[in-house]
Amino acid sequence: MGVLPCWRGNCDNIMCDRYSSKYGYICFDCYEELCSTTPASIKEFMDSDPIDKNEIPTVDYNKIFKHRRDRDHDADDDWETV
Ligand SMILES: [Zn+2]
Repeated sequence: MGVLPCWRGNCDNIMCDRYSSKYGYICFDCYEELCSTTPASIKEFMDSDPIDKNEIPTVDYNKIFKHRRDRDHDADDDWETV
């Protein structure tokens, strides 16, 4: 069996189990992403690049939503108790 490169964006996956006569091959990861998002159109989705899973988020959510175990005792950071 030869390689079946994913047709989506710059995806370099070469193991595709799904094929569309219109849009070509799509790999498991891209298919999952397609199912979990709602692109304006399939063509637009296929033209976009896969999410880079190694990309560091621009916002450090961990600093905004602090975990209880990391709570410090700064006056600004008092946790409200109900
Ligand atoms: Zn892919």
